[in-house]
Amino acid sequence: MRKRLKIIISLLGMLLAAGILIGLRLADSGPAAQTVNAAPAAASDSVRSAARSVRAKKRKPVRPDASNPKQKIAYLTFDDGPSGMTPKLLAALKGCRVRATFFVVGIQAEKYPGALRQIVRGGNVVGVHSWTHKYSYIYKNMQNFSADFNELKDYIKKETGIAPNVCRFPGGTNNTVYRHYSSGPIMRQAVSLTHHLGFAYYDWNVSSGEASSVPPSKAAIVRTVVSQCENKRTAVILFHDTENQGYVDAVPEIVAKLRSMGFAFDTLSPQNPPKFRAKGVRFKAR
Ligand SMILES: [Zn+2]
Repeated sequence: MRKRLKIIISLLGMLLAAGILIGLRLADSGPAAQTVNAAPAAASDSVRSAARSVRAKKRKPVRPDASNPKQKIAYLTFDDGPSGMTPKLLAALKGCRVRATFFVVGIQAEKYPGALRQIVRGGNVVGVHSWTHKYSYIYKNMQNFSADFNELKDYIKKETGIAPNVCRFPGGTNNTVYRHYSSGPIMRQAVSLTHHLGFAYYDWNVSSGEASSVPPSKAAIVRTVVSQCENKRTAVILFHDTENQGYVDAVPEIVAKLRSMGFAFDTLSPQNPPKFRAKGVRFKAR
């Protein structure tokens, strides 16, 4: 009797131990099962983040190859804006993955509130051109030039939060028109003022054809720009941000053609001056 009882008790003990073991196994399998279930979620997360980085890369401007001393560089510069075309122009630049330098006019910026911020948001550079763009006023004396320049300099800082450090003189430094308005060496004085204020100034060595009396067509702009870039390593290209749709339409074609000629694109800055001195261009990094 006692022996049978012993056997029953030991059998019950074994069953209990087996139950505990099974329970433990089940408890163990919980997190393991979760891990297996979590794997697809982790995989889809990494796929999503990879797709995100590919998309971000696609949108990013293509920078020049700094390690290549023979890299040709083109600087797209747009004067006299902003204008009603600026948003379209910015979209065209973004679509080509290039950034440009905008030498703006103060009275235009006041007409298009928020435009300067929009230009900067796209990774482009805003530089000083002139508040009034009136040759007869700015080149009359240094007092006028200084007042006009500083007004725009301060306005750009207020609007964009970024202090400008590049500029372009209306007409360029080698224009002769200013001589009609001033008897003294005003251009030399103006240049030294901008240097004193920490600015680098940039003329251009490729013009998109601003001299013509009628706005140039898209085809004419493309032809003029591309032909002038042919024998250059550094091209500082003058465009105008005006109401002429031709400039906007010409940008993608010009960028594609210049890329096929080996050019990369960059913005102007005193820290990043054009590396090559081109004939007829005055590059001054301070
Ligand atoms: Zn101008």
